Amino acid sequence: VVHQSCISLPRVIRISRHHHRIAFTPSFDQGERCCSVCRREINNEYGGYSCTGKGCSYAAHSRCATQSNVWDGKDLENVPEEVEEEVEPFVRISSGIIQHFRHEDHHMRLNEDTNREYDDDKQCQACITSIYFGNFYSCMQCDFILHENCANLSRKIHHPIHPHMLTLGGGYEGVLHYLEDQCSACFSICRAGFYYECGIEECDFRVHVQCATISE
Ligand SMILES: [Zn+2]
Ligand SMILES: [Zn+2]
Ligand SMILES: [Zn+2]
Ligand SMILES: [Zn+2]
Ligand SMILES: [Zn+2]
Ligand SMILES: [Zn+2]
Ligand SMILES: [Zn+2]
Repeated sequence: VVHQSCISLPRVIRISRHHHRIAFTPSFDQGERCCSVCRREINNEYGGYSCTGKGCSYAAHSRCATQSNVWDGKDLENVPEEVEEEVEPFVRISSGIIQHFRHEDHHMRLNEDTNREYDDDKQCQACITSIYFGNFYSCMQCDFILHENCANLSRKIHHPIHPHMLTLGGGYEGVLHYLEDQCSACFSICRAGFYYECGIEECDFRVHVQCATISE
């Protein structure tokens, strides 16, 4: 059975909630399936979208997968899959010394001293929280510091509530350029130095780094 309303559905799409492409499936085989977007059961006879990745069981209702907040409106049926190469957020200069792309003019050194005195004033410039635990990188020429984990944040991510790729920004011009009240995910309850931003101007979408880690 092909419903009239299903004929116009895109065949292959990519949604922000999932890292593989998903394809329209007119009906599913037996078995229970839950929609990964709304978490409700999928009626097998009505079909929906299922993942094209090998061994991946991701599925979603047609209606849920084609909402404008998860799907960018593009049908990828005959579009070859481009390999999203991961570009490292920093260049390794020598052992323990890096040049981070959000603090390009200086080099930063890894600090692994676990017996260090705790300094309340030292805040990571990505997540604006103190450096209590773990390793961190400190700039060799200024006050800029980053948790080791924050220095490793990906340059590009997909976020579950936005259909386009987001790029890491912030930090670049120095310590005082915090992003304060323009987060699209938390409505400024938190503060961050780094944020992920959609490159499409009309979207006006950006999220604090700590608000970007919601995973499916
Ligand atoms: Zn249908
Ligand atoms: Zn659903
Ligand atoms: Zn998948
Ligand atoms: Zn941090
Ligand atoms: Zn510096
Ligand atoms: Zn936020
Ligand atoms: Zn966008």
